[in-house]
Amino acid sequence: MSYAKSKKFYVDTINSIKNDGLYKDERVITSPQSGVVKVRFPEDAPEKTIINLCANNYLGLSSHPDVVKAAHDGLESRGYGMSSVRFICGTQDIHRELERKVSKFLGTEDAILFGSCFDANGALFEAILTAEDAIYSDKLVHASIIDGIRLSKAQRYIYEHSNMEELEEKLKTTQARIKLIMTDGVFSMDGDMAKLDKICELGEKYGALVVVDDSHATGFIGKTGRGTHEHFNVMDKVDIITTTFGKALGGATGGCIAGRKEIIELLKQRGRPYLFSNALMPAVVTATLKVLDILSQSTERRDKLEMLTKFWRTSLEAAGFELKPGNTPIVPIMLYDAKLAQAVSKDLYAEGIFAVGFFYPVVPQGQARIRTQMSAALDKKDLEKALEVFIKVGKKHNVIK
Ligand SMILES: *Cc1c(COP(=O)(O)O)cnc(C)c1O
Repeated sequence: MSYAKSKKFYVDTINSIKNDGLYKDERVITSPQSGVVKVRFPEDAPEKTIINLCANNYLGLSSHPDVVKAAHDGLESRGYGMSSVRFICGTQDIHRELERKVSKFLGTEDAILFGSCFDANGALFEAILTAEDAIYSDKLVHASIIDGIRLSKAQRYIYEHSNMEELEEKLKTTQARIKLIMTDGVFSMDGDMAKLDKICELGEKYGALVVVDDSHATGFIGKTGRGTHEHFNVMDKVDIITTTFGKALGGATGGCIAGRKEIIELLKQRGRPYLFSNALMPAVVTATLKVLDILSQSTERRDKLEMLTKFWRTSLEAAGFELKPGNTPIVPIMLYDAKLAQAVSKDLYAEGIFAVGFFYPVVPQGQARIRTQMSAALDKKDLEKALEVFIKVGKKHNVIK
């Protein structure tokens, strides 16, 4: 068959995405990732220096000189690539060292590395659950969790976002050999935390495993940055944590599952993205090891992040913006309309602020927003400038008075 017929379908689909105001343009960065970056948009436009309010670079470690150096050292001492999955000939001493170190940091028994947290979530459910088991998950969990759950044969129960009564009702009225509660620690689009204390209580009451994806928490949530389980003081009650190295922990790539040692052992035998996808690049491993050292030595970065977050939230609220309630460095400004979110983002960009609009399908229809994120790479003066711009643009679009 010629391409013509299929091509029409793709062109129509793309056009309908554009007509709905849902088309995503990528802005091209020509500098390292940081609080202030150089951007070209459109791609052939002149370069512009702007304040970046939308990276997951929470701790400002993505371009930290010690982290970059550690990656160089890894490249020098262990080479570029492993050309193998872990179980054939892809396991170096540093892979095991990182598994032990990240596990210690998170307060778990052991850990297993993956190429990404997307892969970690793709591996987990299928490997440790069967049709006799059941998963209870929050409606707003990350896409990779939804996909991972689809790959398993376990029964599925979805509860409304953070609705603990509904979760309890489902745990109480359903039968399964192994019950597993799955939640994000911090929800990426709303910036709120799971009610992890209550979830752990229900886990105990109904004999269910508790699993948290702490991708938007590891490194900075909790007094010493261990994550939401530290924040809620339930470090010994969470059975499994999945998380990424691609956000606060240097931001390159990679992820892991940490938790009960039998589960980690089984994942090394059965986790498909572990068995059939390449070992983590040595330079990423040595750099992530360095990040964990930096975080274990001082809480300076997460403390700064907390200070900036408080400042940003209270300033925006005082200016009259409607925010999603929460206390994490994810600060979403609600606009509801996708086209408005696009227009606001465009004007912010013109004034030197990088903050993109989020709309369907990454958030529900009619829930469009500008998601801003704090970073220890920013300074208070960057936020003061950003605030001025937000007020100016907000007034122009009648978002605030
Ligand atoms: C970002 C994110 C992931 C994916 O992490 P990668 O390592 O980039 O694949 C998974 N889960 C959650 C909750 C995330 O926010």
